[in-house]
Amino acid sequence: MTADLKHTLPGAIAIVVLALVPLLPVPPFWITLLNNIGLASLVAIGLVLLTGVGGMTSFGQAAFCGFGAYTTAVLTTAYGFSPWATLPLSLIAGAATALPLGLITVRLSGHFLPLGTIAWGLALYYLFGQVELVGRYDGISGIPPLELAGHRFLSGQSIYYVIWFFVIATAIGARNLLDSRVGRGIRALRGGGQVAEAFGVDIVRAKLTVFILAGIVAALSGWLYAHMQRSVNPTPFGLNMGIEYLLMAVVGGAGHVWGAIFGAGVVLILKDLLQRFLPDLIGSSINFEMIVFGALLVTILQFARDGLWPLVLKFAAKRPTRQPAAAGSLPRRTMPAVGTPLLRIDMARKAFGGLVAVNDVSFEIKAGQIAGLIGPNGAGKSTTFNLITGMLSLTSGSVFYGGEKLSGMSPRRIAKHGIARTFQHAKILPTMSVLENVTLGAHLRGSAGVFKSFLHLERQEEATLLAEAARQLERVGLGANMHRPAGDLALGQIRILEIARALCLDPTILLLDEPAAGLRHAEKQELSALLRKLKEEGVSVLLVEHDMGFVMGLVDHLVVLDFGTLIAEGKPAEVRQHPAVIAAYLGEVAA
Ligand code: ADP
Ligand code: MG
Repeated sequence: MTADLKHTLPGAIAIVVLALVPLLPVPPFWITLLNNIGLASLVAIGLVLLTGVGGMTSFGQAAFCGFGAYTTAVLTTAYGFSPWATLPLSLIAGAATALPLGLITVRLSGHFLPLGTIAWGLALYYLFGQVELVGRYDGISGIPPLELAGHRFLSGQSIYYVIWFFVIATAIGARNLLDSRVGRGIRALRGGGQVAEAFGVDIVRAKLTVFILAGIVAALSGWLYAHMQRSVNPTPFGLNMGIEYLLMAVVGGAGHVWGAIFGAGVVLILKDLLQRFLPDLIGSSINFEMIVFGALLVTILQFARDGLWPLVLKFAAKRPTRQPAAAGSLPRRTMPAVGTPLLRIDMARKAFGGLVAVNDVSFEIKAGQIAGLIGPNGAGKSTTFNLITGMLSLTSGSVFYGGEKLSGMSPRRIAKHGIARTFQHAKILPTMSVLENVTLGAHLRGSAGVFKSFLHLERQEEATLLAEAARQLERVGLGANMHRPAGDLALGQIRILEIARALCLDPTILLLDEPAAGLRHAEKQELSALLRKLKEEGVSVLLVEHDMGFVMGLVDHLVVLDFGTLIAEGKPAEVRQHPAVIAAYLGEVAA
């Protein structure tokens, strides 16, 4: 069996079983339960994208269900719309609510973000209860059922198919999205999103995208609910349900799309069992079930931090990674003419409170040069990199690229000029494959958006981006590790991975922050050879490095910083004789 078949078989069997259930003589409440699981799964899939992948915790998703449900309820009962006609309108209502809330919420950080979602979750719930148009706390009844080709979806059995059609379609779309260029940008939001920014991902936009998507799928759930239940009131759209949805996503394993369905199943089945059997078991009619329910969930999460889905996956065949098939190559940038001024740092200053980390530093790098930036620890080298790439803002001074002023631009716009970097403290997404980590570097060379990615219509472009990443990985000597999780690599290899990622941007200049740290001698020589090769191709390099043997033999130009101040600059052989440089380095050795 091929890996592909092995991987898809269990899913296919699950779908066939799901399709057969209503045809078997099962008790009706099974169907009701499965319908509810389907509806909850939709919301939970949204939360997987938002919370599990995007890292934004929301307790307020039930409110979006409400907007979806009430939109169709009002339009079908008061204005005579047909249910299918309201589907796009309900989804738009979800998106339209998510947009302003998202604009406010995604800028919140730390605990303020979930608190913000609680606030609007509560506010919207009370809104449903207060507005005359939507029937206040009584809600709206008499909602027409769905109809298709003359068939009215009146029974639980019949709407079951509609619900699960949408659940499976949404799950497949969400998976497609995560495996795409847009999805890599979203996944890179984890851990602060610095890498994402450095490679041109628009962070606010990526966050808003998941926020709106999560709102849309919740609204879809609400739309289905309204036509299943045929009446709506505010109760299912309150904060309680918002919390329960989040629980489902977490129990399933917040980063896994299919886990959302599993989590919804576990939570709802557990709740149902407890409600039915617990009163008999403990011979009391007091509402113990919520307490036991809570305790059980806490226990589950104690034993399986990452939720239950990863445990299920252990028994499943591994998902085959998308292969970088033979694909067209990407257009290259024209490199600036060798010897022309490329990057100019002009009186750059960065103060952190009273500490001046970079003190009015000026230097220039010419196209086609390998330049070294050296200095003792704490000299301000990494800070200089952050000033050039826009990760930090200058206190005063400027940075120019060609004739253009870079300072003041976002890291994303700076990256677009062809400025790529690695990080002193390597920043990778450890659970993503080496190949996917590197493909993130090619973000700016693709253009497929959410819609195309969701439907996996960006195959051609995606294959080209993956092929480019594979090519760069081969080039730096990591080809054999392409499909391993990046977190499995040794530190030295991770530094090389970062170089491959930077190369995917098709850079005019590479900023490498201590690339040789942790490399063995032979690996350093390979790195040196690679950098020389890049230079031949017209790529400029600015490199921070402590290994003087490595630096001296490689660079054309050397800049020395000490305590934030430029103390010497010039050809390596001259600079190493400079008294201030000797003093700075002797000082460090003495210390
Ligand atoms: P280098 O890379 O040359 O070792 P850095 O640029 O990392 O040095 O740091 C220069 C100085 O600035 C150090 O004293 C460091 O502690 C300080 N520094 C760097 N980043 C920050 C920050 N975000 N906040 C406060 N101080 C910082
Ligand atoms: Mg540093």
